[in-house]
Amino acid sequence: MANATNDRRKFMVKTIQSIGLATMGGLLWSGYAIEAKGSPLVLRPPGALPEEDFRQACVKCGLCAEACRNRESNIDKETGEQREGTIKMAKGGEEAFIGTPFFVPRDVPCYMCDDIPCVPVCPSGALDMPSLLNEKGELDINKATMGLAVLHKESCIAYWGLQCDACYRACPLLDEAITLDYIKNDRTGKHAFLLPNVHSDICTGCGLCEKACVTEKPAIFVLPREYATGRPGDHYVKGWDKKDQQRAGQRKAEEIETHTKRSDEKPVDYLNKGIEY
Ligand code: SF4
Ligand code: SF4
Repeated sequence: MANATNDRRKFMVKTIQSIGLATMGGLLWSGYAIEAKGSPLVLRPPGALPEEDFRQACVKCGLCAEACRNRESNIDKETGEQREGTIKMAKGGEEAFIGTPFFVPRDVPCYMCDDIPCVPVCPSGALDMPSLLNEKGELDINKATMGLAVLHKESCIAYWGLQCDACYRACPLLDEAITLDYIKNDRTGKHAFLLPNVHSDICTGCGLCEKACVTEKPAIFVLPREYATGRPGDHYVKGWDKKDQQRAGQRKAEEIETHTKRSDEKPVDYLNKGIEY
């Protein structure tokens, strides 16, 4: 009888252990699957193809990270010591797709090297050199679109009225990618706000501003452009912008079929309706 009870107990323990292991395995696997997929918010080196194409093209060789770490400016002239490079290769537990290069500006931003050593070494085209060539056919780091700096006004102390221009000064495209807007501080009546303003057409997403920000968690931070920008839709047209008006003019209304007879009135007639001069 005692033997039968012991056998039953052993069976129960084994069953529970198996269920526990299976559950743990499932959890580990789902964690691994999330990790293997990587966060969409990860920042890639200069010239990287769009994220999906990049993941397919990158052969995870690490040459970009090596070139970044070995660049001359990364060696301390006095001590000869090599600093940590900007580009890291993702390991398990990090936010990027395992084995691919990425950077975290708050740790090490991109210093926007003139010769962009990380890009020409890429053997797969995942870092696309032609996208960084200027009109003269020279490599131009200002053409990089690694991300876009986003400012959270509520946590930016300059928006409180305190004097801080850390991000503005850190920006390698000084007074272009970030400008300061001078606005009267009505609360004190005698001071001015100096408000950082990011210009998305110039910002490369290097992250030097994020690194320099003095707040505990940076009030200015870089996101991949796709996540940092909105999209108004093609049906909104800037009436004061000739280029945008041409874009709207390119829509050929006659190509769109409709059963309702089109009005012969012009838009301007409609807008002026009911206005007395
Ligand atoms: S351009 Fe940026 S990522 Fe490339 S080598 Fe220089 S610091 Fe590193
Ligand atoms: S050099 Fe190119 S292929 Fe190699 S890890 Fe860097 S991006 Fe990927």
